[in-house]
Amino acid sequence: MAWDFSTDPEFEAQLDWMRAFVREEVWPIETVFDELGDEGFRRAIAPLQEQVKQRGLWAAHLPPELGGQGFGQVKLGLMHEILGSSPFAPPVFGNQAPDSGNSEVLALAGSADQKERYLHPLLAGDLRSAFSMTEPETAGSDPTLLQTRAVEDGDEWVINGHKWFSTNGSVADFLILMAVTDPEAKPHQRASMFVFPADTPGVRIVRDVPTMEHPIEHFGRYGGHSEIYYEDVRVPKDALLGARGAGFLIAQQRLGPGRIHHCMRWLGVSRRAFDMLCERAVSRFAFDSLLADKQTVQNWIADSLAQMQAARLMTLHAAWKMDTEGAAAARTDISLIKFFGAGVLFDVVDRALQIHGALGYSTDLPLEQMYRFARAARLYDGADEVHRQSVARRVLRGYEPVDVPSQHVPTRREEARRRFADLLETVTSND
Ligand SMILES: Cc1cc2nc3c(=O)[nH]c(=O)nc-3n(C[C@H](O)[C@H](O)[C@H](O)COP(=O)(O)OP(=O)(O)OC[C@H]3O[C@@H](n4cnc5c(N)ncnc54)[C@H](O)[C@@H]3O)c2cc1C
Repeated sequence: MAWDFSTDPEFEAQLDWMRAFVREEVWPIETVFDELGDEGFRRAIAPLQEQVKQRGLWAAHLPPELGGQGFGQVKLGLMHEILGSSPFAPPVFGNQAPDSGNSEVLALAGSADQKERYLHPLLAGDLRSAFSMTEPETAGSDPTLLQTRAVEDGDEWVINGHKWFSTNGSVADFLILMAVTDPEAKPHQRASMFVFPADTPGVRIVRDVPTMEHPIEHFGRYGGHSEIYYEDVRVPKDALLGARGAGFLIAQQRLGPGRIHHCMRWLGVSRRAFDMLCERAVSRFAFDSLLADKQTVQNWIADSLAQMQAARLMTLHAAWKMDTEGAAAARTDISLIKFFGAGVLFDVVDRALQIHGALGYSTDLPLEQMYRFARAARLYDGADEVHRQSVARRVLRGYEPVDVPSQHVPTRREEARRRFADLLETVTSND
């Protein structure tokens, strides 16, 4: 029976290197990111990206023929747990969202020309991308309601629609867009994907929507969530990405691994918050003892560790299932970790913030930023409720309705009495 939680020593050495590298080289950038600006940030991380490439860890989510490492989801998961500790580690390793997911879409569904034009420069770090699907007017949770339309006109597609929360839209060189091409088809075959340059005439990027994470609007900022109007945008026929009507299929394939990476990155954030929680517990004194001696704080520590351990095992198990049985087999596991992992992140960060009192609420610590980041995790890539619904639906497929509950004791007793009638008679006659 194979049941092994160990990591091979060679890869463990890589993980050790990543832990030290991210802590020593990437964490310091966090405190000067705003001062560096976009160009300064690119220059600051360029030498770090070189080191990552030399180490063979660049764009590890892609297969080797595309310049990636072909790690598989378990190894990628372990790697993302480390990268998640800082929002600036993923770009240093060439696997930041949404570029990593978009590169997977291009690798999966792109034509040779699209790979040449978009994928290779994206992997080289020369281009940036955005994924434009969610609309303000329709429920993103139910993308069969999408209204953005792409209509054929001669050798072109003409796109009209309104999107928002297209992350990195305002700094992107190209966009991957989801639009309805076949409104009469079955709901999940109506939409297609397109890829085209962000400066195509008719693409009007109006703002980066201010959010809890970035409350002050800065247009054209890395990590901004852009609102975009597509007004009679004409793209050539070969801008279609993948088969016509395959938009949902491709989106599903993109989202599965992406959710595993999100969950592992959240564990990286949780671990950093947890360390801060413990450090404060053994440092702060009130009411005759350290906070570490209060039972409430001890409960926070034990509960946080238990939750993180559970989320970690669930996520690595989902990754393992994806590696061994494929994305379809891992769907329930991925939905489970998406809402469970987001909840764990939120709880751990909340406790770490609480134990620091006013300091935790201040921007003198990264906890308030983590807290705002954690809140979004319950929404993007599927709101909690949608993943719970999808788990419950799939679980319930394994059950049949009954007139009498199958565990009804009087019914079971009657059956058992029939089965053991001889024995029961002997026992009774001995009385
Ligand atoms: C930080 C961030 C980054 C994002 N990046 C991108 C991006 O790059 N590209 C992109 O296209 N989109 C992006 N999004 C959008 C994201 O995918 C959507 O917000 C998400 O799909 C939910 O859609 P919605 O906001 O329209 O909410 P709605 O679909 O309107 O849902 C609102 C609420 O309704 C409830 N609900 C929905 N369905 C059910 C149900 N079945 N049962 C019970 N309750 C339900 C849930 O509480 C849900 O939160 C991003 C969002 C965030 C917050």
